[in-house]
Amino acid sequence: MKRLILISACLAGIDCKYNGGNNLKEEILKLVKEKKAILVCPEQLGGLATPRVPCEIVGGGGQAVLEKQAKVMNKNGEDQTTCFLKGAEETLKIAKLYDVRTAIFKGKSPSCGSGTIYDGNFSGNKKDGDGVTAALLKNEGIRVVDEETFIKGIK
Ligand code: SF4
Repeated sequence: MKRLILISACLAGIDCKYNGGNNLKEEILKLVKEKKAILVCPEQLGGLATPRVPCEIVGGGGQAVLEKQAKVMNKNGEDQTTCFLKGAEETLKIAKLYDVRTAIFKGKSPSCGSGTIYDGNFSGNKKDGDGVTAALLKNEGIRVVDEETFIKGIK
């Protein structure tokens, strides 16, 4: 049996996004319908509610959060780092259970972003770095790509 791909649930139309919506991409949903993928939402797995106050990483990227050098704060100024670390650990557990080698994750998210994330000022500006879960998965040798890179690659 082919290995399953780990996918950000919001990309398959699951309403787990901070505002109660989703980030549906038909190309990603197709993978789920073909039984090639499993879905995760690290922020829900970390115990955060939906809808929730949006969060961004302050003081670095996901790797710095894992190293306790940066924090994940919500727009109200509340520290949500513990939930993000928990969500990353639970996602890694699922990835290991299914022996996942590839993840297609939502770009720019403080959990799922890969290579580029929002800069921590809630201004829409971006910075280099991964989300917390993406950083943890990469540390474990799992390839993480964002949805735009995946979709470009199949076109
Ligand atoms: S944590 Fe990931 S899966 Fe969950 S809503 Fe945010 S981007 Fe989507």
